[in-house]
Amino acid sequence: MSHAPTPMMAQYLALKDQAGDCLLFYRMGDFFELFFDDARTAAQVLDIALTSRGEHQGTPIPMCGVPVHSAEGYLARLIRAGCRVAIAEQVESPEEAKKRGGSKALVARDIVRFVTAGTLTEEALLNPRESNVLVAVCPLRDRVGIAACDISTGRVELEECAVDGLGAALARLAPRETVCPEEWPSAPLEAVGRPAHGFDSAGGEARLKEIHGVATLDGFGQFGRAMLAAAGGLIAYLDHVGRGRLPLLLPPVARGGDAHMAMDEATRASLEVLVSSTGTRKGSLAEAVDRCVTGAGARLLAEDLSAPLLDLFAIRQRLELVQWLCEDPLLRGDLRGVLRAVPDLGRALGRVVAGRGSPRDLGQLRDGLAEARRLHDSLAARGALPALAQALLPRLTGHGALVDLYARALVPSPPTERGQGGFIAEGYDASLDTLRAAAGNSRRAIAALEAKYRDETGVAALKIRHNGVLGYFIEVPARHADRLMQPDSGFTHRQTMAGAVRFNALALHEEASRIAEAGGHALVAEEAHFEDLIARAIDAREAIAATAAALARLDVGASHAERAAEGGWSLPRVVDEPVLAIAGGRHPVVEAALARAGERFVANDCRLSDADRLWLVGGPNMGGKSTFLRQNALIVLLAQAGSYVPAEAATVGLVDRLFSRVGASDNLARGRSTFMVEMVETAAILQQAGPRSFVILDEVGRGTSTYDGLALAWAVAEAVHETNRCRCLFATHYHEMQRLAETCPALSLHHVRAREWKGDLVLLHELAEGPADKSYGLAVARLAGVPDAVVKRARAVLDKLEKGRAATGGLAAGLGDLPLFAAAIEAAEDKVDALREKLNGLDIDSLSPRAALDLLYELKREANA
Ligand code: ADP
Repeated sequence: MSHAPTPMMAQYLALKDQAGDCLLFYRMGDFFELFFDDARTAAQVLDIALTSRGEHQGTPIPMCGVPVHSAEGYLARLIRAGCRVAIAEQVESPEEAKKRGGSKALVARDIVRFVTAGTLTEEALLNPRESNVLVAVCPLRDRVGIAACDISTGRVELEECAVDGLGAALARLAPRETVCPEEWPSAPLEAVGRPAHGFDSAGGEARLKEIHGVATLDGFGQFGRAMLAAAGGLIAYLDHVGRGRLPLLLPPVARGGDAHMAMDEATRASLEVLVSSTGTRKGSLAEAVDRCVTGAGARLLAEDLSAPLLDLFAIRQRLELVQWLCEDPLLRGDLRGVLRAVPDLGRALGRVVAGRGSPRDLGQLRDGLAEARRLHDSLAARGALPALAQALLPRLTGHGALVDLYARALVPSPPTERGQGGFIAEGYDASLDTLRAAAGNSRRAIAALEAKYRDETGVAALKIRHNGVLGYFIEVPARHADRLMQPDSGFTHRQTMAGAVRFNALALHEEASRIAEAGGHALVAEEAHFEDLIARAIDAREAIAATAAALARLDVGASHAERAAEGGWSLPRVVDEPVLAIAGGRHPVVEAALARAGERFVANDCRLSDADRLWLVGGPNMGGKSTFLRQNALIVLLAQAGSYVPAEAATVGLVDRLFSRVGASDNLARGRSTFMVEMVETAAILQQAGPRSFVILDEVGRGTSTYDGLALAWAVAEAVHETNRCRCLFATHYHEMQRLAETCPALSLHHVRAREWKGDLVLLHELAEGPADKSYGLAVARLAGVPDAVVKRARAVLDKLEKGRAATGGLAAGLGDLPLFAAAIEAAEDKVDALREKLNGLDIDSLSPRAALDLLYELKREANA
């Protein structure tokens, strides 16, 4: 028996072939249906019933479906679960199909769009406060090009980095979706492979020129070949996903590698910049700082926090804007009031350009641009603006003609659906008004007919009604139907219902036709106007995007000012010298958490300078060491992002790279042993940190045995002090490390204070100078609720251990005659150099085999000496 697929199944399978690894949404009437494995996946993710339909190769075909009208919600869930979806629509009506291929013809279907996490524009599928970034990466020789875009707002950035910098760059961009050439062995784990020929630098350059209608890209910036190759891959993917219709792409911006403070993935994670350790925004720095009143502002703020600046001038400009808004609460309040009412211009524009714009989106452009203009006028009237505000001013205006057009063309609140019409305002198009008037007249005429028919028939219960199947009809209760059934009554019978009978009449039919005709023409006219209005927005896309960006920048400035006012934050002084002087610093997230519990945060100072650049911080667990370390890193990050900082005063010397190694135990989920992770990250710091970097290291060596741990922590601290020479806060519970202060002149000792009071431990969370006196481990255990008996037993064990230590000189007993770090390194190098010299001086050809063998023994002896 053959199992030739039905024509429909054949069509489905061909489309599924095109869809590749995307789930195929196959349109059938009012449903999108999924079959086979797609159905299994979707049924599980969406928690909907898995059924079956027909047979394929002898077995039932698994199937599930979602209604078209509520498809967006289901799509959102699938995307969130990491799926990608291809939408196959019916591209002709059943009537057209019949005309084409007879009564049994199958309706033609085609994939009209791919829905993927990185290519969304729909309001319902996007988080208004988060960017939605799609990234294409492409290796080229020893570099990697990165093209990043947010098609919901059109922003495009190109950059390039060394292969080992890719992780950090992706961590900064936090893409929702990544594509790369297929069969690239070192592709990022989550990247989707795409045909390699799309990632072509010449092709990428040509496409960019074509999209922006320019003969050269020089006006936008300097782009290397790797960047252009990545751009090529990005555009090829967007072409594929949009089936040839490109979304909003603004001119590309070249991002230089040294424009921003470098932070690797581990640092971002441990500082919880955008997401906290719970994987959500809750508890993150972004959440603690963000007071933006617009989604666009919140997105820009997140970007700022992800990429703090290195340019003193630019940082000071941002800070000056914040200061201006900080010192003038009335202005700030007004500004925020206006911004709160501004629609999300950037995203409305993104939908419009992607071909998914609605009349409502045009209304949003109208309202947003009009508000921007009003803001411009009120700011311009003030005079004496800070430089950044002055620079933003012209971008807030210049849309007069467009706003005016939209104001005349559109009703005050246009609908999201355009199929029903009704969004073009009265008075915009005289012929449209005439059509509407005709329809209106006919509706009134129909109302008049009802009265007339009642009169004529004497049936008071007679009604003219309307439904989708019959159109307009006359309905009377069944018991009165006879009168209208008379052959000469002027009524023709249409339908008999239980209890009611329906009729038509010539005059009614004529008026109804007029309504239908006028309505149809009106719809066509509105559609034409809509296309025209859309085209006008597309023409002005760059200027609209610039206005959206300017509004977002103002919102961010006002947000920082608001946050500063709320929390008593202060204006940081950002300078070029490698210092860090913070008076009364606080950790914004911990402080907020304590405040919710009614507790007070203890502010602490930090003073690092060239002569005192490494602080060793000791003290009991839970004493506040991590918090202190992180709060200083966050203050640096905030200052360079252009924000006020949670401190009484702060002088921040520019930091080129920020590193944070905190809490080995946080990383268990990543599959590597904690100690391995800790060492990989520590290695990165030792290799990359320089004199302008700032490093926080928390409990290095905690993940291994005491001796290993102490030895590593010791060596790492020495290397940071001698070789990296960066500013560094180093928390440790190893008492022995205090002896480093004897040999490292730029290292000083500090501790978080604690006191035992009537047997209870009191953690003061207060930083003090000098070494910690003891570790209070048992007291912390008691505080944590470890049963008394266990603590008592531990006390007994500890006494024994301490007696042993006193007898042997303790853990660090052998360290007394340790040579200095620098001397030890030099000694090792000396030895290598002596060997090299000897090898270089050899005349190998003149050696007898015997002499060569002796020499090998000798060299080996020396190497081991
Ligand atoms: P450690 O790293 O020394 O083990 P943490 O920094 O993790 O300690 O702090 C432990 C807890 O102490 C925090 O969760 C917080 O509740 C509290 N804490 C830390 N620093 C402060 C502070 N400066 N003021 C008030 N409470 C603090």
